[in-house]
Amino acid sequence: MQLGKYSLGIGDRFSHQGVAQLRGIIKANQSGVEISPVWNKSNREHIYVHSYPADVRKEADAAVTTLGFSGKYFVDADHINMGTVAPFVETADFFTLDVASFIGKESLEDEVKAFVASCSKYVGKLSIPGIDHTIEVSEELIAAIAHKFLAATQQASEIYTFLKGKKGEGNFITEVSMDEVETPQTPVDLFFILKMLADKGVPAQTIAPKFTGRFNKGVDYKGNVEQFAKEFEEDVLVIDYAVKEFGLPEELKLSVHSGSDKFTIYPIMAGIIKKYDKGIHVKTAGTTWLEEVIGLAMAGGEALDAAKFIYINALGRKEELCAPYADVIDIDDSKLPSAEEVVGWSSEKFANTLRHIPDHLDYNPNFRQLIHVAYKVASEMGTNYTDLLKKHSEVIGKCVEENIYERHLKRLFNL
Ligand SMILES: [Zn+2]
Repeated sequence: MQLGKYSLGIGDRFSHQGVAQLRGIIKANQSGVEISPVWNKSNREHIYVHSYPADVRKEADAAVTTLGFSGKYFVDADHINMGTVAPFVETADFFTLDVASFIGKESLEDEVKAFVASCSKYVGKLSIPGIDHTIEVSEELIAAIAHKFLAATQQASEIYTFLKGKKGEGNFITEVSMDEVETPQTPVDLFFILKMLADKGVPAQTIAPKFTGRFNKGVDYKGNVEQFAKEFEEDVLVIDYAVKEFGLPEELKLSVHSGSDKFTIYPIMAGIIKKYDKGIHVKTAGTTWLEEVIGLAMAGGEALDAAKFIYINALGRKEELCAPYADVIDIDDSKLPSAEEVVGWSSEKFANTLRHIPDHLDYNPNFRQLIHVAYKVASEMGTNYTDLLKKHSEVIGKCVEENIYERHLKRLFNL
């Protein structure tokens, strides 16, 4: 089973937007690219909205049938580990092995030594084709990387072996993710991590490192764009070299857990993958939930009231809702509109404040980030919320489709 060169992760909290998301991808594919949709949902999201892995499979299959989509598509058990993988085994065919919590865990000294010994040919000035400078590699550096990452790659191997036993070799896509940590992995870290994965027989098709900068949820990239570009380009070249050196799957590519909406760096990524003719996987999720709220606001009446309720309720429970996202949101409280103010807003005012059009005068990233974490409020509304999604599916679907195509795919694939 192969993922294909270009793929987009489309998370959908409440599983109502599969068709609209797929319409956005089909629209992009009509202009000549071939992007495979991957419906991703983590265990954490399932817990928050009380959904089950089988729901995602149903949503994906139904969307594909409805639109007669004939391309490849996948269902991603996002950010699973040994403790959470079991309920995903049957219905997912893409597994994101999250081994971030094993980074820095001690490995046996003998294993570290054996790894360092196996890397002797890379000691000295390591030259990676395409990178214009050599990298100084010492045994100490390799040992430090081994101490940091051997346990994590061992964990990836254990989850992969478990899945292989359950699903059979070649019947699923393997991603290894290390993005949910504070410190970015450097290109040289990535090179040796890939060797560890190859040594342990993990046939990763995608790898999600932590990149430099902040990938806050639902808003643009924050950080040093030039440094990101350099790191991203070097990662692409490292992967290319590692595939040949270590015999990893030919199709191995970067997976960017974007947190959605990284408009500044999408064109940079597009330029680099085009330059080297490489593939990419980009995960989004929260952006579709935000479009649902925009769609509700646009629908007016009781739907607009529901959108206002979600914001006002979230404003009162800001600390509670933001706590699990502390590392991936940055809200300036002084820029959040008050409940009294929002009550009086029109559909347009609400939608324009929330919609991610960076240079729109009403756009407010603080408002947007608070709504991002407020899906718990919608979840608590139960069928009151999902009934509104059904009732206003047309206007919401248009928002979802436009967002995936116009704001994400056009920038990501230079369309
Ligand atoms: Zn992630």
